[in-house]
Amino acid sequence: MVPAGVAAFLSAAVAADAADRPWQARALCAEVDPDLWFPEKGGSTAPAKALCHQCPVMQTCRSEALANDERHGVWGGLSERERRRIVGPRRPAPAPGIRREVAAA
Ligand code: SF4
Repeated sequence: MVPAGVAAFLSAAVAADAADRPWQARALCAEVDPDLWFPEKGGSTAPAKALCHQCPVMQTCRSEALANDERHGVWGGLSERERRRIVGPRRPAPAPGIRREVAAA
């Protein structure tokens, strides 16, 4: 079950993104309990992924999730761990005043 605060945040985020992400109007997950896409730690992501693979916007969803480094839940048929494997670990932001090239060295 998604904690109430997280669910409220996600609902607001989805609403705010609706204008920027018109493909979400065709998202299969909009018709199903959102808890399925945010399983408890150790819970199975298989049911959500199975639905994603039937979703007409899976490729777009996956591309945007990878491009935006979505951290939580199943997106485009990929779990958080699977997305991290593709994009790599998120680098911490450099301290103010330090350029990223210097911080990465
Ligand atoms: S691919 Fe999965 S997460 Fe993405 S819009 Fe479709 S059902 Fe939702």
